[in-house]
Order: sequence, then C-alpha cells, then structure tokens
Amino acid sequence: MSSRVRIKVNGIVQGVGFRPHVYNLALSRNLAGFVLNTSMGVLIEVEGPGADTFAEELRRDAPPLARIETLQSEKIPPAGGRDFEIRMSEPAEGEFALVSPDIATCPDCLRELYDKNDRRHLYPFINCTNCGPRYSIVTDVPYDRPYTTMRAFKMCPACETEYRDPADRRFHAQPVACRACGPEVKYLGKDKGALTGDDAVVETINALKEGLIVAMKGLGGYQLVCDAGNHEAVKELRQKKRRNRKPFALMSGSIETIETLCHVSGEERLLLSSRARPIVLLLKKPGVDDKISTDVAPGNNRLGFMLPYTPLHHLLFHHPGAEGAPGVLVMTSGNISEEPIVIDNHEAIGKLSALSDCFLMHDRDIHMRVDDSVVRMATGVPRIIRRARGYVPETIDMGRKIPEILACGGDLKNTLCIIKDSYAIMSQHIGDLGNHEAMVFFAETLENLKRIFHADPVIVAHDLHPDYFSTRFAIGYKPAGRTPELVAVQHHHAHISACMAENGFNGKVIGVAFDGTGYGTDGNMWGSEFLLADYSGFRRFAHLNYTPLPGGDTAIKEPWRAAFSFLVQAFRKEGVTIFSKIKPGACNEKEVNLISTMLEKGINSPLSCGMGRLFDAVSSLVGLRDKITFEGEAAIALEMAAYEFRGYNGTYPYSFLSPRNRIDDDNIVDTTTLICAIVYDIIRGAPAGEVAIKFHNTIAEMVVRMSALAREETGLEVVALSGGVFQNALLLELVEAGLATQGFNVLTHSRVPFNDGCVSLGQAAVAAARHELSHNRV
Ligand code: ZN
Ligand code: ZN
Ligand code: FE
Repeated sequence: MSSRVRIKVNGIVQGVGFRPHVYNLALSRNLAGFVLNTSMGVLIEVEGPGADTFAEELRRDAPPLARIETLQSEKIPPAGGRDFEIRMSEPAEGEFALVSPDIATCPDCLRELYDKNDRRHLYPFINCTNCGPRYSIVTDVPYDRPYTTMRAFKMCPACETEYRDPADRRFHAQPVACRACGPEVKYLGKDKGALTGDDAVVETINALKEGLIVAMKGLGGYQLVCDAGNHEAVKELRQKKRRNRKPFALMSGSIETIETLCHVSGEERLLLSSRARPIVLLLKKPGVDDKISTDVAPGNNRLGFMLPYTPLHHLLFHHPGAEGAPGVLVMTSGNISEEPIVIDNHEAIGKLSALSDCFLMHDRDIHMRVDDSVVRMATGVPRIIRRARGYVPETIDMGRKIPEILACGGDLKNTLCIIKDSYAIMSQHIGDLGNHEAMVFFAETLENLKRIFHADPVIVAHDLHPDYFSTRFAIGYKPAGRTPELVAVQHHHAHISACMAENGFNGKVIGVAFDGTGYGTDGNMWGSEFLLADYSGFRRFAHLNYTPLPGGDTAIKEPWRAAFSFLVQAFRKEGVTIFSKIKPGACNEKEVNLISTMLEKGINSPLSCGMGRLFDAVSSLVGLRDKITFEGEAAIALEMAAYEFRGYNGTYPYSFLSPRNRIDDDNIVDTTTLICAIVYDIIRGAPAGEVAIKFHNTIAEMVVRMSALAREETGLEVVALSGGVFQNALLLELVEAGLATQGFNVLTHSRVPFNDGCVSLGQAAVAAARHELSHNRV
C-alpha cells in the first residue's frame, strides 16, 4: 500500500519557482497529489512509493531563490489518484507568507534579452520566476498577479501559455509580460516629443551621450541619470540637486569597467553581482579623476558603484540601436531635497522637470517605493549602510513566537519594524522624517507591511525623545480606535538591542553605542555610551563628559562650533585665543563673540556626549571640515586622512574619572587632556593624518579599556558594537582587533545598519522582552 504525505513549507517560497520545482520533482518520482500556494506558504500532498522521502529531497534541492524557514510533514490516509497537479491559490484568514525582495535580472533572462530570435529580444521588462520585481509591486498576499501592479496588464496567449505551463521557467511568474501585452517604455523629450519601445531607449542613450540629464523610472522609484564622464553634466546635476558634496551613486554595465576605476576585492565582486545588486562603496584607483567627473564624489576616496539590476538598465549600456553608450552613469535617487524618491509618473513630471532634461518612463506602477541599498565591506564582512531594494522585506529570526509589535524607529535614517510570529520585518530605508512627504511614506509603508504580513500590532515601541515625529506618530496611532500599549525605548539601548537581535544573542552584553546623538534618560544628548544591557533594560556604565553644543542642530552642520566648545572646555578663556591661532579665518570676530557668550551663559547650547561630535571637533581642529553638507562628512574626512597613516601606533592621553572619586555612578572619560594633546600636535605642525590616526587609536584603546573595566566588574564577556560612528571601517578594525586580543566575543552589524536604520529592530526586541517579562510576572 502506498502512503500519502502532507507537507507544509514556510519561508520565501512564493514567486521563486517553488511550485514548478515541486511539480517537476513529483513527476520525476511518479508521485500523485498536488501543490498549492496558500497565504502562509506552500502546501503539498504526495502519494505513491517514495512519498516518505519527498520532503527531505525538497529541502536538499530547493530552487535558487527559495528560502525554506520551516518544513513540516505528516502522514495522512491515501486518497488515490494518478496525476500531480498545481492547484489554484486559496487565501486563508490570519495566515501569511513571506514576500521576496526585488531580484536583479537573471542570466537566463539576460541571454534572451540579447537573443535576436527570442520573442522578448530587447524587451525592457523581461523577467521569470527567478528574477524581477517583487516587493515593489506586491499589493497583497498570496503572491498572485491580481495582487500585484501587473493586474493592469492582460496576458497575451503566448505569455499565458508560459505562465500556465509547469515545465516553463515562467510558470506563475507574476510579472510575466512581453511586447504584445506588457508594460511599455516612453521617452519624453523637451523638443523631440514622445517615443516608445526601442526608439525610446535609443533616444535616451543619445540624450545621455549629449550630456543631458534623464529622469528615469527604475524599479523602486525614479532615478536621475547622466554620463559620469561628462563633467558639465555632473556639475549641472549637482547644482540642480543642491547636493553640495554628498556623493552620487554610479552604475556601470560590467564589473570589468568598474575594475578600471576602483579596487574590487573578491568579496566586493560577489556583493556587486549578488541578486540584491546594492551600491557598493569602493576605493578609487589612481587616475580615476581623468575618467569620472570629480563632481561625482568630491573630496572622497570612495565611489559607490552598482551593476544593472533591471533589463532597462542593461539596455542603457548596451543596445544594438545605439553605438557608444556611456560606460559609467551617475544614477542617483529622483527626489527633491530630503523628500522620498518619486514613484508616480505625474509626480515625476511635476517635481523632476526642474532637475532633468527629459524622461524615460513606463506604465508598470511602483506600489512600494524602495531606494537602492548601500553596502560597504569592513573587516572582511559586508556592512549594510542603507537597507532597501534587494534586501527588504527579508526577515530577522527572533527565535521564538512573539506578540505582534510595531516599532517606529528614530527620526533620522528612519526604518520601521513589525514583529509577526517569530519574524522581525524591517521596512526599507524611509529617511529623515522632517518633511510631510516622508511621514506619508512612513504611513504607507506601515499599512503595506501590515497588509502583506497580516499583522495588526497593538504593542507600539518608540524613541524616548518626546519631540520626535516617530514618537508623536506612535502616541497618535489608534488602529481601528484601539489604544495600543506604548513602550518607550532609549535610543542607545535600542542600538545595542538591535545588534544583539541581529546576532540572535539572548543574554547580557557590554554594549558600546557610538553615534551623533540620541535622547538620554537625563534629557541630554547621549552618544558615547557603554551600557550593561539585555533586552529588558540597561545600566549606563560609562560615557564621555558632556560638552555644550552652541547652536544645537546648527553645531551638527558646523563642526567648527563643536571644536570651539571643546577648546573652551579644555582651556577656558584661553580656548578662544587658541581657536583663532590654529583656525585663523574659520569665522569672524562677531561669530567668536557670539559663540563665546552662548557658551558662557548657556544659551541654546544643549549638552552632548556624542562620539560623533568629538569626531566632528577633531576634524575641524585639524583643518578638514568646518561645515558639512551631508551627515557624517567631517568624520569621513577624518577617517580618510587617518588611512594614510594606517599602522602608526601612537595614541593620545585622556583622563578618566571612576565613580570612586565622583558623586554619580557612571565612569566618565574626560576629553580635556585629549584635546590639549591634539592642540599641542597641531601647533607643533603634525600633519592632519597623523593626528587623525592617533585619535582613532585612542578611541579604540578607550573602548578596549572600558570594556575590560566592565568585565572586571560584571564578568560579562560579550561586547556589542552599534551606532553610526562604527561605519568608520578603520575604527571598527582597530576596535575589533583590540577586543579580540583581550579575549572578548564581539557582536557587530552586517545585515542591518550600524546607523539609526537599526533602531526600529532594537525597539521591537526591547518591547518584546518587556512584554514577556510583565506577562510572566502575572
Ligand atoms: Zn529571469
Ligand atoms: Zn505577452
Ligand atoms: Fe543612533
């Protein structure tokens, strides 16, 4: 008698060719039964000799894009029958499936794209079960065409045949389309009028060759594109986007081209060509300034490169109808100032006309806007800096089932996070919440994630900062009139918890959170925190002494103010004289007097112990950056300068106040001695790079020393590193090496950013722990 087995598979198993795979496997084993997409995954029943081992085979040999989270199988009574069929999907209440991120064009589709005999030859929307848009076009689950923005296109008979044939590589590929039935590109030029199809692509390439700026509808939003080798075009784009010095991302048609411009390690090569196709930050090679406009990344020793990830991108570099397309294109987000990336065609014409000369648009709607992701290698590990296209909505496993939670994140580099079952689902990078459009984007993303993951959280975590937009959103959030349970989480506790959660660590750690700012429990700006922490709480073990920031937010944009304040703190009144001596011309006498008065009287000078501010101050003192045009610019300049003196061992002294000789109970690292020593070096004429490397060494040594002290007191052996300051690869390298020699186990970020993009994950982990704690107590 033959047996029948029912198999339930969870994970990323929809839209990745899982059902045809099951179908073909069952046929080859002569098994009867069916396979079915449900809203929670895939359900399979197989019957016949060998049915018992089917589940094992499936796990061993899954399709390339599938990620099996759980696979349960049980024996059930035989039902007879001979055929194996693919049944239609049926939605079920309260259940959900994981949605795949958007995937770069696969090699098979690329081959067809350039095959003259293929019916999709040069068709800009070619895709299959292994590639194409997913998260950006999915409006609901299960993953089926009516629940994507492809519902607007009725399949032609040829596409329909492929879509229905289980043996075809486009079987149930929801975005399947061709020239006859699918989306179409359209070129809109100021004088050329409208063109479609190949003409549109060819005309776009011609426009780029002429040095024009094109607003192009990509996968997750509009992009502004121009020839990176055309200095005038890049300069114009920079002026129009008012980006000052913030680097532009680049795209090239091939790795070989990138290798002529930048150093590309084996790991970086893998990252560049991975399915997520992120922007990878690469070290420039000498002579690159002759080939790429210096306005792409002014004063930066790195370039952000990515490879084409849609057929349309491929066509821009290589189209038989257009000779000599530019080899490297600037490809930056199509948005104005800090607003979210534009996704709608009408909005694009309204907002991007002033920034571009022409448009390359199409009629496949983008449901979820999702920016390009940014990654950098540091200490041999990929570190995500901006987590968006290609990575979202991949989940973080929380290791246990948790009630549904919404975590609203912070106000800068915002992401939000939803907990469903045992998964943490982080949103794509939403950005800074300082404008109305960003808040709309935040709310849209929340509604979308709730819908596709069937979640409706009534526990809501937020930052401790009372004036954050994200905090106000959390407080005002009343889903269907219910009042959620609110959990306020301190910013740096969230950082450390995010690092623990990403690493699946459940215990207590010595947490080192270094960043620019975060609201502290004492109302001051924290950011150099050594916390003894687990998910439910923390004790502040050590931090830098507080320094006033004259002008508050203005001081963040003008590092010379922090430098001035550190000098006055170290040298009192004489600090003003020293400032004018080592930084002549940094500001006029009026400004000096104004800042002096502000510091003296404590006017608009909030107290900060942010490590980012100390990096800013040192960067200004050594003459690198007095005013910045994007976040982290001063610290990046300091890291670049230090690289040239890499391997140099010198450090600076700093004093250190332990609780024994102080009234409150935190250890304080006093920066006065450090600042004095730096000033001495500057006056003696030490090059900026030498000061920079000694400063890096000092901070790394400080981390090791404080961690050792914390270990002595508590016996804790694990150090968790978080906060945007650790995006500094040199500092991370020095800190990791130092901690390793002292025998610490070090947790760092890789899949989730060190910066505030991780805060929502940490908030969710803290809220989960506190909820569990309060319920176990009852
Ligand atoms: Zn494909
Ligand atoms: Zn078709
Ligand atoms: Fe932070």
